[in-house]
Amino acid sequence: MKRVLASAAGAAALAAAVGLAPTSPDGRVVALRAPDGTALAASDFAPPSAGPGPGVLLLHQGNRDRKSWEDVASRLAKAGIHAVTVDLRGFGDSGGTPHAKWTSAERSAARKATPDDVDAAWQFLVSQPGVTRGVVGIGGAGADGVGQAVAAARRHPTEVKSLALLSGETDLAGGRFLKDHPRLPILFALADDDEYPPTQDVMAWTYSVLAGPGRRFVHYGGRRPPWLGFEDREGVPDTGGHGTDMFRGHPELAGILADWFVETLVKTPGRADVRETAAALPSTPLLEEIEAPGGTERVAKKLAEARSGDPDARPWPEAVVTLMGYHYLGAGESKRAVEIMKLNVAAYPDSADAHDSLSDAYLADGQKDPAREHAEKALALLPSDTTDSAVRKTEILDSAQGKLDQLVPKAARPAYSIQAVRYATIRDFPVSALVMGAPEDEKLDIAMVLWLIRGGGHNVLFDSGFHRAKWLAEFPSTADFLRPDEAVRLAGVPPEEITDVIISHAHWDHMGGIDLFPKATIWIQRDELAYYAGGAWQPDGRHGGIDPEDVAELVRRNTEGGVRLVGGDGVEILPGIRAYTGARHTFASQYIRVDGDPPFVLASDNCYLYRNLDERRPGATFGDDDRAANVFHQGRMVELAGSPDRVIPGHDPKPFEKFPSKEKGRIAQIR
Ligand SMILES: [Zn+2]
Ligand SMILES: [Zn+2]
Repeated sequence: MKRVLASAAGAAALAAAVGLAPTSPDGRVVALRAPDGTALAASDFAPPSAGPGPGVLLLHQGNRDRKSWEDVASRLAKAGIHAVTVDLRGFGDSGGTPHAKWTSAERSAARKATPDDVDAAWQFLVSQPGVTRGVVGIGGAGADGVGQAVAAARRHPTEVKSLALLSGETDLAGGRFLKDHPRLPILFALADDDEYPPTQDVMAWTYSVLAGPGRRFVHYGGRRPPWLGFEDREGVPDTGGHGTDMFRGHPELAGILADWFVETLVKTPGRADVRETAAALPSTPLLEEIEAPGGTERVAKKLAEARSGDPDARPWPEAVVTLMGYHYLGAGESKRAVEIMKLNVAAYPDSADAHDSLSDAYLADGQKDPAREHAEKALALLPSDTTDSAVRKTEILDSAQGKLDQLVPKAARPAYSIQAVRYATIRDFPVSALVMGAPEDEKLDIAMVLWLIRGGGHNVLFDSGFHRAKWLAEFPSTADFLRPDEAVRLAGVPPEEITDVIISHAHWDHMGGIDLFPKATIWIQRDELAYYAGGAWQPDGRHGGIDPEDVAELVRRNTEGGVRLVGGDGVEILPGIRAYTGARHTFASQYIRVDGDPPFVLASDNCYLYRNLDERRPGATFGDDDRAANVFHQGRMVELAGSPDRVIPGHDPKPFEKFPSKEKGRIAQIR
């Protein structure tokens, strides 16, 4: 499991309020500055009467901004509590790279700096006239908001008198801090329809180990959705009850939270009168024992005993122990992490994620051989994994593959050159047919492209263009057409010297030129060939944009031994060229990553234009069910390339300006 909270160790920062905007009906907008100069937007909700009173700082979750706390903040102000909400860097109106565009490096950098953002807002709050400095509450939502709320409480232990934690968990140091302060009032809130599993398990665990007087658990029931991504993942349908989104389905919660802060900050500061305790996770004693000295060995014995009675015994929720392991990993205690992850593999031997997580722990501990072994095991288990969602399997695959790429000594990877070859332009193409939600009347001259990759004795085409007259007739605004084989010759390779053609998908403008490269081996996803040679032409089949002549040529080439079938996601086609399955632009489309320094991802129609990437908008041809998956894959492309600049869209003319060559507009020298 990836994407664990960065450890939140930040020195207290001085806030500098650099200017005040006019009062808005929902609080006064305030411009703050983080110590590194990043502009931060906050909203200040002051009580109507100026008398002294407590303050509350409200921190948003990783897929929302400060507005998500507005209702609670204005209720607090009415109740005489001074509340401040803030957009953390990368969110809402604050500065920094927008979070939707973060690469993993930018994500970690932002997470490292976030405690400074929180403290800028903290300093602003406690310096407001009338705020009683030593009586402050913090509310946090989601993995990000809860993690930051607890981290801020650790930095200000004498001033923080109350917490409200919605749908998130803390790290090892945060958990220890809360255990060491058993009287600190905490309200936990969780809804089972939270769209970011395993928040449900992890939060139930957090509450269970911290339960006691002053600890309240508001737990709403509901149906658990499938795992579709992490909290900050774009494209996850945001219809569930994660964090402050719980207010939609449970409107009384905002009032419960306001009452909580009134009780624990105004009526009885630093105390809560909670009599009812919620049901703890049944496995809590075992989970606590795992963390005790020598605990992993004792629990391993107990697990073996339980197994001898019931071979299917599952003594704890898998995700809880995974997260526990990552807590130790995040705190630098890699040996403990290895022990804990091993225990989870013992309990869940068929879980790809459990093996991948153990591999992470071994890698952090410098044990490369077992790290490799368990990453390989994770990959081996994925094809038979029927319980995880497709998105989750993708995450596990990329995580395990990423480690193997580091760990397995590679045969020398060819230094591939990459050229985009534009064989035609279609003028005045409606952008709304490419970018979901673009204005209906917007037009663009789109590039018709194939890509030439050379190295290691191979001349590889990614896609093959088209040349049949019927398509030229169907798109009369086609201009500057140069038959794909001639266009490739212009790029420097005679067509008979093309050794391989990787087909992204079977659409006419991508597979329609394979007959021009008769000596090449064709690479296509197994399911793509199977569907368009079969089911697509049955009464319930779909074959829009597929040319029967292309399919006939593909099948003929296959019977001659000239086709290689690519078996799914993350498959290496040639050394350093790996195929990834996209969402269903066609039945089984693929995009590729070309390794090298730096790597590039060639998206083909899995991302039409830079605009899809910039605005995280799905391609307009994707079906309703696949739009979220398309956005997910665009994010994955950025991760695989290491930067959005190195994802090359399928029909965008811009690469021909960005990567110029002497064949202006025709050939882009990408690398
Ligand atoms: Zn297409
Ligand atoms: Zn296309």
